[in-house]
Amino acid sequence: MSDRDRDQDVFSTDEQLSDDELGASRSARRSRRRRSCPFCVEKVREVNYKDPDMLRRFVNEEGKIRPRRQTNVCAKHQRSLAQAVKRARYLALLPYTGHHVHG
Ligand SMILES: [Zn+2]
Repeated sequence: MSDRDRDQDVFSTDEQLSDDELGASRSARRSRRRRSCPFCVEKVREVNYKDPDMLRRFVNEEGKIRPRRQTNVCAKHQRSLAQAVKRARYLALLPYTGHHVHG
């Protein structure tokens, strides 16, 4: 039930950004919400694989990495993200599959 809800919000900026950052990203927003990679917005160079809460926004319920069209992640960061998710899985920070969690 609650997992479904989470699926909707790809990158809940409300919680994470301070007022300062919110104002900055709003003014920097050029072409109408298109191509706003959440990592580029945050000036992330490489995706942090030690942050499972963040990574979980980019995988679906099955633990699969979500497609870029859903997450708006740019090609550069999608590669970095994929690597980060795989590292996180290896370190058991993320599940390989979501099913056994419920089972
Ligand atoms: Zn990016």
